[in-house]
Amino acid sequence: MYIYNSASRRKEVFTPREDGRVTIYTCGPTVYHFAHIGNLRTYAMEDVLEKYLRYLGYDVDRVMNITDVGHLSSDGDTGEDKMLKGAKREHKTVMEIAQFYTDAFFADCKKLNIRIPDTVEPATNCIPEFIDMVETLLKKGYAYEAGGNIYFDTSKLEKYYVFNDFEEEDLAVGVRESVEEDGNKKNKADFVLWFTKSKFDDQELKWPSPWGIGYPGWHIECSCIARKHLGEYLDIHCGGIDNAFPHHTNEIAQSESTFGHEWCKYWFHVHHLNTSSGKMSKSKGEFLTVSLLEDKGYDPIVYRFFCLQSHYRKNLVFSWENLDNARIAFDKLISRVAQLDAKGEAIDSEAFDEGKKRFLTALDNDLNTSLAVTALYDVFKLKCNDATKLALIADFDKVLSLDLIEKASKLEKNENKESGTEDIDPVLLKYINEMIEARREAKREKNFAEADRIRDELLAKGITLLDTREGTKFSIG
Ligand code: AMP
Ligand code: ZN
Repeated sequence: MYIYNSASRRKEVFTPREDGRVTIYTCGPTVYHFAHIGNLRTYAMEDVLEKYLRYLGYDVDRVMNITDVGHLSSDGDTGEDKMLKGAKREHKTVMEIAQFYTDAFFADCKKLNIRIPDTVEPATNCIPEFIDMVETLLKKGYAYEAGGNIYFDTSKLEKYYVFNDFEEEDLAVGVRESVEEDGNKKNKADFVLWFTKSKFDDQELKWPSPWGIGYPGWHIECSCIARKHLGEYLDIHCGGIDNAFPHHTNEIAQSESTFGHEWCKYWFHVHHLNTSSGKMSKSKGEFLTVSLLEDKGYDPIVYRFFCLQSHYRKNLVFSWENLDNARIAFDKLISRVAQLDAKGEAIDSEAFDEGKKRFLTALDNDLNTSLAVTALYDVFKLKCNDATKLALIADFDKVLSLDLIEKASKLEKNENKESGTEDIDPVLLKYINEMIEARREAKREKNFAEADRIRDELLAKGITLLDTREGTKFSIG
């Protein structure tokens, strides 16, 4: 398999260890708010990577952290702790916020068929590990104390900027705008390993340390949690592209200075989900969540399908129109699968291998999921029986995780029914009922323009309303 390595800036042949074990570390969510669908694009594509490696027979061990302390509003070292911001917003404690949004994150993952990593570790569980690494860095001369905080000294490194051909000057104070300079730093690129003094004295979670009561920097958590569970050598490190600098750059600085050798072989970065106004981000205030998609009547798996249709190293533009197109294509795909009938036939192994080869070729080429989806469509064109086609679809779905067979069999049942709503996707049913209710309300208020708009919105989605004496009924398709 070829995989693009952001550290070397080229596609490389993926070479596993001799025992076939593959270790993956993933930067987890900062649990101060719901994940937006941009965050979830990153996790969905990382999920495909993990599942594909398993599909190829590797023994994958994947670890993810949960950031519940230390991630300041700027990815540099300034601004308020995001967790504290969330707690203030909701008048709760930081730990209450952390628990609530961790649960919400995994609920969203479940809806998108994103597998929970083998190990999930909240940062607040690992304070002794952070202190230990900071002590090592101080002993080895890679860190210094200034103004009460412990900083990493980037001037001690032979090479600091590993990922991109960025201009050093532009990056020196962090990539974000409005980043204030910290007068304690010896070099502009230095970063905090442990805070005892920050501008925010109301930091809720603090721990004793050899340098006073304080809390860890964000970057140190990933270096330490990866080491705790996966040792000193890591195969793949994942994250969104915005994490490449300064977060991952700083992780490399800390880990390699601690271990005294190269740490991670492959860096896998997922590019952003953008809206017409740029990167989807929580700091802009407006962002889309999986629940919002459901409220609007979309099956979350349609969003996964939408993500799979484009390559992870390209920015993906989100619009409702694009999502609607994905839904139409997905519904058609499911109905084509539903038309296949295995009839107990034997699998044609030659055709199976041919179909599978296309799928492997697509994903072996730097996880080209859009070509993998094309390989899925190609299955219908193969000259073989339906049993073989269904076997291929089930096989591909081990990686794509679109519930293709399950959804098709539900659809078949629906088609066999004369009436009744029992088998309609409950999310869609909820949406339709809410829309019918909103239209009834609009009519009651004599807002006929709104009532017509609702009817048209449903019609555009293939849902026709019929007003009868018993109330409004609907038909789909
Ligand atoms: P956070 O919870 O902010 O720490 O981010 C969780 C993950 O989502 C990180 O890997 C980010 O790099 C990634 N991410 C943030 N914004 C986007 C976006 N618009 N599109 C794709 N991934 C994103
Ligand atoms: Zn991280």
